[in-house]
Amino acid sequence: MSQLALVIDLNVCVGCHACVTSCKEWNTSGTAGYMTDLNPYGADPTGTFFNRVQTFEVGEYPNTETLHFPKSCLHCEDAPCVPVCPTGASYKREEDGIVLVDYDKCIGCKYCSWACPYGAREFDENQRVMKKCTLCVDRIYDESLPEAERKPACVMSCPTSARMFGDVKDPDSDVSVKIREEGGYQLMPEWGTNPANHYLPRRKTRMKIHEDELVRADNPLKKEGYEHDYEEGPTLDDVTSW
Ligand code: SF4
Ligand code: SF4
Repeated sequence: MSQLALVIDLNVCVGCHACVTSCKEWNTSGTAGYMTDLNPYGADPTGTFFNRVQTFEVGEYPNTETLHFPKSCLHCEDAPCVPVCPTGASYKREEDGIVLVDYDKCIGCKYCSWACPYGAREFDENQRVMKKCTLCVDRIYDESLPEAERKPACVMSCPTSARMFGDVKDPDSDVSVKIREEGGYQLMPEWGTNPANHYLPRRKTRMKIHEDELVRADNPLKKEGYEHDYEEGPTLDDVTSW
């Protein structure tokens, strides 16, 4: 039995969104069909994406850092989105563990999006069906492509190789070795969904800031007689690294 999945290295993701745009391009023109964009150039643009990068600032000033967190369907082994589907549109493939939606059977009831604890499902307002990451199932088995390109579009486009793809059930696969050697972890394992995708945790980096480096010569706060009370606080590494 195999379980295909993504392994994402949080140390090297720079938040460039190449994975987001390549995913949108491939899946809009591929068999998943177009992915709706509503009001793309207006004040309140919205649309359907299979993959998003969420960016957070974490820690307390001055020890703050930026964390880029790519998120898509995690192809859970015990996927709660599957049994709630009243039509059988939402299903998990036995041969490779990919969770898919059959658009012809989907009635757009959105039960699956309520069941998914990761917010991975996106409703296509034009087609009135639920969509989500397919792990580029129409690409990874395409024998007309060179073997090296039979990977999800996001993996192909990532300029820092933060995204890896493979069989997490094969102990000798590159992704399994990475998970084992670099402490790969599942998102929110306490929910019992057993996500197939894994994240490689940020490694501790040492950076020492001296107090005088925080004070600009033209510090406007100082001119106004306001002094910030710099306290040693937890860094982002303390919050997000293991
Ligand atoms: Fe289902 Fe959400 Fe898990 Fe994907 S991440 S398999 S949509 S529960
Ligand atoms: Fe099934 Fe579609 Fe309803 Fe989701 S929205 S539960 S895939 S019928």
